[in-house]
Amino acid sequence: MWSKKDDLLNLTLELVAQKSVSATRDEKCMAKLVHKKLSELRYYKENPKHLFIEPVNDDLDRYFVCALMKSKKKTDKTLLTIAHMDTADIKNAGILKEYILNPYKYTEKLKENIDMLDEDSKKDLLSGKWLFGRGIMDMKMGLAMQMSLIDYYSEKEDFEGNILVIAVPDEESNSQGAISAIPFVNKIIKEHNLKPLAVLNSEPDFGLYPGDDNKYIYLGSCGKLLPGFYIVGEEVHVGESLSGLNPNLIGAEILSRMDLNIDLCEKVGNEVPMPPTCLKYEDTKKDYNIQMPPSSIMYYNLQTLNSNPKLIISKLKEICNEAAKSVIDKVKKSKQQYTKLSGLEFEDDNLDIKVFTFDELYNKAYAQFGEEFRSHLDEKIGNWVNDDSLDDRDISTNIVKLLCDYVKNEGPCIVIFFALPYYPHVGINENEEASSKILDVVNNTIKIAKEKYDIDIRIQKYFKGISDLSYFALQDADEVIQYLKPNMPSLGYRYKLPLEEIRKLNVPVLNYGPHGKDPHKFTERILVDYSYEITPRLVREIVEGILSI
Ligand SMILES: [Zn+2]
Repeated sequence: MWSKKDDLLNLTLELVAQKSVSATRDEKCMAKLVHKKLSELRYYKENPKHLFIEPVNDDLDRYFVCALMKSKKKTDKTLLTIAHMDTADIKNAGILKEYILNPYKYTEKLKENIDMLDEDSKKDLLSGKWLFGRGIMDMKMGLAMQMSLIDYYSEKEDFEGNILVIAVPDEESNSQGAISAIPFVNKIIKEHNLKPLAVLNSEPDFGLYPGDDNKYIYLGSCGKLLPGFYIVGEEVHVGESLSGLNPNLIGAEILSRMDLNIDLCEKVGNEVPMPPTCLKYEDTKKDYNIQMPPSSIMYYNLQTLNSNPKLIISKLKEICNEAAKSVIDKVKKSKQQYTKLSGLEFEDDNLDIKVFTFDELYNKAYAQFGEEFRSHLDEKIGNWVNDDSLDDRDISTNIVKLLCDYVKNEGPCIVIFFALPYYPHVGINENEEASSKILDVVNNTIKIAKEKYDIDIRIQKYFKGISDLSYFALQDADEVIQYLKPNMPSLGYRYKLPLEEIRKLNVPVLNYGPHGKDPHKFTERILVDYSYEITPRLVREIVEGILSI
């Protein structure tokens, strides 16, 4: 039904036509469509109980779809596959946005407006080999291809192996789809006695640098943390600036040490993610007055390949201590210079800026105020969680702020915490038997690509775009659970992360999908012949290779 090039392309076009911008109610329609298309397969007409559509239980009423296909030959060997159903927004297509969900039409319209395009997109458009559209590469083709695996293998008498396709919403936002699917996947594995060997994602390959046109298979996925700093200063009238301490000065010293800090880039082999950058920095003063702001808040995007939260916290502490020292030195120097200039004396007031983790400060507050503190905080969190005007990051900030209000006697301080979301890094460990077998399958697939189709495919250890693969394994699980949980203030309220379930699942991950360019941009496009003729065949090599491990 979907195994041939044109059928697979038509299925993709049907999925693209259903708008499913991330974090919108359209994602529900998309899940219904995927479920409906799968239910039309003969396998699900005969086995309706192997097809599931399950609620994410969120405000947008979104769903994930799980489709289990058991081969006619009985076995417990199972390959999991994951695909996301949501897309980036369509707004950036501007005046052409009404066509972006109709790739043939959109590609034609781009030809009529070719001056809108950059040189590389222009060249690709005029070559006639590429199809443009929202979600065409990221990742409705990959989703369609995974659906086609069920169609293809369920009709094969001699095939031995089970496939569980997991189609999820919200990947482009907070990965709530994958996160909520993991416990359900564990449940299916248990109920059907499955032995999951690996999980395959089919995100398109992304170029490593502008103009990179190589094709890749990925054996892992980059992690991502959002370290936050809540900074408490010493609030005074601006007319007494040398007597107080501006939290924005402390923040600026942290910013200059954190932003683009190459020492915070991890390296595995030749692979290095981008250095961190600040996503938000503001003080907490609401209105104009002539006081210094009392506190400020900042958080950073930090990609990880192998560091666990314990190690990261120790690096962040070091940065904060350096920043604090630098501020103290500056204040001291300014006082001395001001004294010299004005003749007014300043007492040496032993200025101190303490550095805490959220967990350390929480324990201090609890030791001082006990249950009264805890129940007050819980009550407040209950209100914030139900307040739609606050996002998950605002809730973290509110929690840290309230905590700092309790321990005012600590004076100026920096509180290190983790905001949401969290993506654990997942990577292959060549010394582990399961991973090394997957690597053999991948190397064999690359060999076939060269010999049969004259295509060069390269291996990358980490998919640099963040992906749902992060939730299929948990490396350094003990450190993550011990250090991340107590330092992530808003974890477990709106945003639940089933760390124990992830640890339980723990399967090797890989990603192989179509070839495209410019994900999320209005020039998002897919290389048609390679993606629809060769990619599905190579994916079947991977599927069969893994299931015969
Ligand atoms: Zn994607």
